[in-house]
Amino acid sequence: MVSGGERVTPLRSARLEGMSWLTHGFGTRHKEAWTPPEKTARLRQVHGSEVVSVRIPGDHGEGDALITSTPGLWLEVRTADCVPLLLADPERRIVAAVHAGWRGTAAGISRITVETLCLRWGCDPVDILVAIGPCIASCCFEVGEDVAAQFPAHITRWEPKPHVDLVDANRQQLIAAGVPAAGIETLGLCTVCDPGAFHSFRRDRGPGRMVAAIQIRDWD
Ligand SMILES: [Zn+2]
Repeated sequence: MVSGGERVTPLRSARLEGMSWLTHGFGTRHKEAWTPPEKTARLRQVHGSEVVSVRIPGDHGEGDALITSTPGLWLEVRTADCVPLLLADPERRIVAAVHAGWRGTAAGISRITVETLCLRWGCDPVDILVAIGPCIASCCFEVGEDVAAQFPAHITRWEPKPHVDLVDANRQQLIAAGVPAAGIETLGLCTVCDPGAFHSFRRDRGPGRMVAAIQIRDWD
């Protein structure tokens, strides 16, 4: 696992960074370095599979994924071990932000987000690009057998104790929904392994969360 080190700027996906029509970032524990956003839409995250489409800033109730086509509006999710995913469709200029903990992952939140983009927003999954940010990686995500049983066998390493790979579980959902593997970028950083860079709920049991956010640039 790559070390995040003492990062004081948000982490960015090279894939998304290459698109001039959007801006994005995965925050670290160094909050002072990056405070996204004023015009932000957020949810009360409940580890479910509800996908909410938004056009205005503010609190949009319960849910774990946000979609917008509105320029200038930031979509924000907050994590400290759960998987943050940022999605973009360059053809239709639509973006999404997803919070996928193990429960949301087991409930299919990434797959459902792509399905919603396609069914309600007219996206073609082959166009969708995804960045998967820092989260608890399989090195540190030891789980009980009850949790492991909710994931496909190839996602789980059973010996000596069950470990689930949440990044791979979400990646497989995206691919099953039609997103090309080449369109998915994984930052490959473990929040538990790198206390200098990241909050980790499992490690710290604290209130610290990191913001992942994406916005369609507003040129006006
Ligand atoms: Zn780790």
